[in-house]
Amino acid sequence: MNVPRSHENRLRELETMVRVTRTLTSTLDLERLLRLIIRTAAELVNSQGASIILHDRRTDALVFRAAYSPKSDALLNMQVPIEGSIAGTVFKTREPLIVQDPQADPRHYDQVDRAIEFETHSLLAVPMLFKERPIGVLEAVNKQDAPFDQHDVQTLSTLAAQAAVAIENARLVTELQEANARLAELDRLKSDFIAIASHELRTPLGLILGYASFLREEAEGATSAQLDKVLQAALQLKGLIEDMVNLTHLEAGNAELHLSEFALQDLIRETVAAQQEFAASKTITITPSLPAAPVNVRADREKIGIVLNNLLNNAIKFTAAGGQVRISIRHQPGMVAISVADTGIGIPPDELERIFDRFYQVESHLTRHTGGMGLGLSIARGMVELHGGRIWAESVLGRGSRFTFTLPLLTKRAPT
Ligand code: ADP
Repeated sequence: MNVPRSHENRLRELETMVRVTRTLTSTLDLERLLRLIIRTAAELVNSQGASIILHDRRTDALVFRAAYSPKSDALLNMQVPIEGSIAGTVFKTREPLIVQDPQADPRHYDQVDRAIEFETHSLLAVPMLFKERPIGVLEAVNKQDAPFDQHDVQTLSTLAAQAAVAIENARLVTELQEANARLAELDRLKSDFIAIASHELRTPLGLILGYASFLREEAEGATSAQLDKVLQAALQLKGLIEDMVNLTHLEAGNAELHLSEFALQDLIRETVAAQQEFAASKTITITPSLPAAPVNVRADREKIGIVLNNLLNNAIKFTAAGGQVRISIRHQPGMVAISVADTGIGIPPDELERIFDRFYQVESHLTRHTGGMGLGLSIARGMVELHGGRIWAESVLGRGSRFTFTLPLLTKRAPT
């Protein structure tokens, strides 16, 4: 079949466009994208050079980001004024522009030519639009065989449209990566701060506790009641600092498991005893409903104690006077599940996962009054996961919550 020459050219152009579009949509490396776009632009409209001038939103300036021509390196990062330049005019009007003799055009910014010792004889500039907003200008200079025409305008505009989407995608990904890096750095600073602060607070607090206990033993009457208050407050502070220390160990990944074999029932009873006074102060009944036969686990007794203590303390804290707290143990294949259920305020369904985040507290006037730093559950999750278990919450708002964690029934390793 005899295909006319103009059709053949058009076909080749379309092939190039399809090939380039495929690459444009699959790469997120901005520099590579820019280089590909200018090479293709020059090729498609048969011009001596091409360049991409992008709008910098922070400085509201147009800047050469890529150029394809002899000595093009001198152009990179060069600013072009929005007022009084051809690129600026195209950027503002969002209309393509052909300038046959740029040297004679008052809008031509000839500092560019001077910088690269290059003379522009003809120029085609098209806007790069993303969601109808101009993000820059794509230019082709010095068409080799004939003047730029409407066909070139169409070809370059099609490429510019594809290129704009690719550039914006790549920019968004880069911005996201930078934002992530900044967040990671902030997170590191915060962890460092917590580690240093908790360490520095421990020593003076130890002194306060020591002297207050000593004075409490000696004191009588009203002074003794006042010293009780001091001791209580200091112990509360100690709990908060221990939370911070535990958190920093878990975060740093240097929390170690000191495994021993023990009966879960014993640990649960000890924890209940420690919280009995708090429960009684709110007339809350704690009911352990435990199997008679000992459920032996091999775990870090202290850490599981902290988990149980945090869950029990929350259950009492978030339950109104006269409520109930129940602790139960359930056997599952290869593991054991321990639940702490209360008849308290409950947790909204969309918060059931987030409450395990560090420093997260359900926003409500009820929880604001209860104190705490929002660390207990994230520590509990960290400690349970160190054991290879899981922890989760279920709740009916206004009716109560149930927290459950599992522990694998670890078997002792046979001596090798
Ligand atoms: P804290 O208790 O110090 O606020 P936690 O990490 O232990 O921190 O708990 C995070 C949040 O989860 C609490 O502030 C509260 O909003 C919610 N929460 C935890 N346990 C319960 C519970 N048993 N009932 C209702 N809400 C709870």
